[in-house]
Amino acid sequence: METLTAESYMEGLYEEDAVLTRVKEVIVAKNMPEISIAPGYGRLLTMMVTMIGAKRVLEIGALGGYSGICLARGLKEGGKLLSLELKQDFADVARDNVIEAGLGDFVEYRIGEALDHLNALLEQGERFDFFFIDADKVNYPNYLELAIKLANPGAIIAGDNTLMRGKVVDEKQTKASVQAMRTFNQRIANDPRLESTILPAYDGLALARVK
Ligand code: MG
Repeated sequence: METLTAESYMEGLYEEDAVLTRVKEVIVAKNMPEISIAPGYGRLLTMMVTMIGAKRVLEIGALGGYSGICLARGLKEGGKLLSLELKQDFADVARDNVIEAGLGDFVEYRIGEALDHLNALLEQGERFDFFFIDADKVNYPNYLELAIKLANPGAIIAGDNTLMRGKVVDEKQTKASVQAMRTFNQRIANDPRLESTILPAYDGLALARVK
């Protein structure tokens, strides 16, 4: 008998989510990277958006719309997810998937460098209740700082891939992306503006609440 990991055991308890399975199939068919957030964390995103009653959600890194669907599922009528994506073709796939999921009215995509968009949002005085950071790892510390500045009091900041498949705990790994993630994790843990925890299951998920 095959030995189950804790994660596959837990996932096995849940019925298949046909909408998200379809998104994963589209991502494969389009030759996009198969790095969507883990299903257990997707459910957590939906729960947290619901729990805090978030009205405005900001996602950094749309990929194929998997996490976008999880975030938008937690929104109520009138809520909005703004999703920043570097690549036009990824955003097109994400938008199609979000519409197919029946959530198109909740989501807006902006294409291009996330740092530019974040700085523009800051200049415009925009504020958000929930952030999901899941983009290029080198910029995670910068995304965190801008998210804190764009946060309403009590906002939640979630960051995916905080373990980078074990690289962050391997001292031999010195790539800029790994070092940036270590910096991000340090700041999540120690920034006096935040209360936080970092979940070590799957590929690691940082959760912070802006005081
Ligand atoms: Mg990710």
